[in-house]
Amino acid sequence: MSAEDYFDSRYQVSQGDENPLPETGMDSIMFDVEAVEQASEYLRQALNLLGKLSMAPSPLYYTLFYNYIAGKNTRLNKEVDQIIQQEGALDREDAILLFRRFFSAGGENLIDDIRVELVTMIAQVIGSLVDIAGETSLVNTRIATHIDRLAETKNPSEVVSTATAIITETRQFVTRSRQLESEFMSSAEEMDKLKKELSNAKREAAIDSLTGLYNRRAFDRRLNDLMEQAGGLENGFSLLLLDIDRFKHINDRHGHMVGDKVLSEFGKHIGKLTRRSDFLARYGGEEFALILPDTRITSAFTVAENIRTTLERVRLRRSRSKEALEAITVSIGVASHRTGESHEALIARCDKALYRAKRLGRNRSVIAD
Ligand code: GH3
Ligand code: MG
Ligand code: MG
Repeated sequence: MSAEDYFDSRYQVSQGDENPLPETGMDSIMFDVEAVEQASEYLRQALNLLGKLSMAPSPLYYTLFYNYIAGKNTRLNKEVDQIIQQEGALDREDAILLFRRFFSAGGENLIDDIRVELVTMIAQVIGSLVDIAGETSLVNTRIATHIDRLAETKNPSEVVSTATAIITETRQFVTRSRQLESEFMSSAEEMDKLKKELSNAKREAAIDSLTGLYNRRAFDRRLNDLMEQAGGLENGFSLLLLDIDRFKHINDRHGHMVGDKVLSEFGKHIGKLTRRSDFLARYGGEEFALILPDTRITSAFTVAENIRTTLERVRLRRSRSKEALEAITVSIGVASHRTGESHEALIARCDKALYRAKRLGRNRSVIAD
């Protein structure tokens, strides 16, 4: 059944003589045998008037104004005129009172419900557009065109088809909005997931899994960054390279697992002795590197000695037997970055100092040449 059929068949229900209007006890008014064209004209004018008075085309208002335009009930018109003259519009309460007095007994049969349905749908459509996409001007313009046509048309089937077009337009828009929203939500979720994965991957790429300290890669990057800004640092920066003494013996004597534990415990102890701005990394197997920004060589040496003497006092115990391990010491090379010195040159100088510390008997800090 097309919209047109629907309109026509419904219209005939209130048209036939075999379907008389219920007795209201009031003036016999409204929809008895209006021609379709005439009814459509009433619809158009009622909508116009409602628009002019800035009143919503709700079924309630529509019914009142349809009958007002049809002009078959002088009492109704008089009262409406009076209220509008005094108050500028009909508020909801006035409208309800008028409706009750003039139409309540008739109920559904007194109004042409298809047009009420149409107007209701239009109101809903407009309402949902305002809700969903007040600013979506393209759709609004299209809807506005339909509404203009609706107000102008005298052809009832065009009223239906225009209203149908509005509904279709809005449904499509709502569906598109929902699709967009769910696409947006899922891409936002996806993006969030990717962002987390990326930041995890970045973290993992920079962190040594055994000690939880930065790894060699992160160290190299930080050292390069610092070198770029070294000119701006008043006191430059210093570097410590720490190597555990005779670590091979520890592994040999207690096993690799204990060796691992020593590495992670030493990492924690050194970490506790650093400042927030320092950068501690596991540089290699049993070697750590510590960058000390804004630190001259004498202060760097003090830091090195503080770490070394602290570590030599640490006594690690095997968790099961509580057996204490022998004192474990570190040797440290200490170097201050020289203006213009390359990454490799600084490391080489510091490494040489560390090597000298080993040669001089270990468990000591040596300043680089
Ligand atoms: P030196 O005092 O000259 O530094 O002697 P060292 O034994 O510490 O030095 P060497 O370079 O001869 O040996 C380093 C040892 O560190 C050998 C290697 O098996 C051990 N090692 C390196 N990485 C790890 C690790 O991740 N876990 C454990 N348990 N041992 C490691
Ligand atoms: Mg080593
Ligand atoms: Mg060693």
